[in-house]
Amino acid sequence: MKVLVLNCGSSSVKYQLIETSLAQIESNTDRVIARGAVERIGTSSAIHSYRPEGGEKSSEVKEILEHRVAITEIIRTLTDPRRGVIREAREIDAVGHRVVHGGEKFARSVLMRDEVVRQVEECSELAPLHNPHNLRGYRAARKILPDVPHAAVFDTAYHQTMPPAAYVYGLPYVLYTRHGIRRYGFHGTSHRFVGWRSQSILGRRREDSRLITCHLGNGASVCAIDHGRSVDTSMGFTPLEGLLMGSRCGDLDPSVIFHVMHKEDLTEQQATTLLNKHSGLYGISGVSNDMREVLAEEAKGNERARLAADIFCYRLKKYIGAYAAAMAGVDTLIFTGGIGENSPAVRARACAGLEFMGVHVDAARNETAIGTEARISPDGAPVAVLVIPTNEELIIARDALRLVEGVL
Ligand code: ADP
Repeated sequence: MKVLVLNCGSSSVKYQLIETSLAQIESNTDRVIARGAVERIGTSSAIHSYRPEGGEKSSEVKEILEHRVAITEIIRTLTDPRRGVIREAREIDAVGHRVVHGGEKFARSVLMRDEVVRQVEECSELAPLHNPHNLRGYRAARKILPDVPHAAVFDTAYHQTMPPAAYVYGLPYVLYTRHGIRRYGFHGTSHRFVGWRSQSILGRRREDSRLITCHLGNGASVCAIDHGRSVDTSMGFTPLEGLLMGSRCGDLDPSVIFHVMHKEDLTEQQATTLLNKHSGLYGISGVSNDMREVLAEEAKGNERARLAADIFCYRLKKYIGAYAAAMAGVDTLIFTGGIGENSPAVRARACAGLEFMGVHVDAARNETAIGTEARISPDGAPVAVLVIPTNEELIIARDALRLVEGVL
């Protein structure tokens, strides 16, 4: 089955066309036939980049004022006789949509129906910067491909198994019941995917495992997966909580916000921007939100870059320790995301000192594990430490397929 996966933001549509089947999922052999992105939607200079499997990347600049036009453009490219990978739009069997927030309404992926759309709209209050755009993309795609099933796959759904002790904040309880103020967690598709892959790699059943998964990209979160269920994760009501990130502050005493707003005379909007865009690796190092650049500056002797990288790794280590405690142990530690997959230095720094709990990293294995699946712990170590490249689009395609096949 060919599934078109769409990830619609305010001014962008990222997409992959993925061929998958139940047998391909089992053997991990489903494949991306084409991928691309339309960015700067709403301008006369939108950029559509596209790459078919095994082919050259191309990009075009043109006026694209709305999501519907972007998706029409994507289908036109996929069916283009010269560059395309399918002959006609009818070869697309299903569409999978990334939806950021499913609130407490969705604990798994679902097929889109009017009722689902209404419920996703209700969750928009919790994710005003994401859900409305995800829905706009869905509505546009539904008009263009009306006769195929559309699935919604939520970033939050996987964490709906967290117990109240992990998700209720230390605030008046009525704020939870009245406004849904609680921890939700994000990156659920990624944590779920790498957890699932680890079982195949290690030949373990999910019932037997206590996993800690570290998704370290621009946004970063850690998840404790106890016997196949997320029992805690570091992001909270929004993706701002938890680890230090590219430009987000992560854990913070909430009083700091009011103090800084007063001292710097900031509006609510400015304070939100400060916490989300001017903090994290970028805010501390003053160099970049990109870990590669921070590490390169550190190597040149830049002390603030060193501090930023130290804080990133220290906080990650604290979460690993905390989640081992939450599960009364850990069997497998997994690194994924741009940093987790590609930075031996960050992995080594985060694991240093955790030998007391069975976490050992083999230096040579760690150095060569870049962008590929690998075990970086020594053979026979108590905790298997793995690197597993994530693939959120693949999870979305697989969920769409399983929903269509009626096995989810
Ligand atoms: P996003 O969250 O936007 O999907 P990614 O998962 O692509 O982000 O991760 C981006 C991060 O990965 C950036 O901080 C980038 O510097 C980092 N990264 C990529 N390659 C390396 C590397 N070789 N060493 C260190 N960090 C890397």
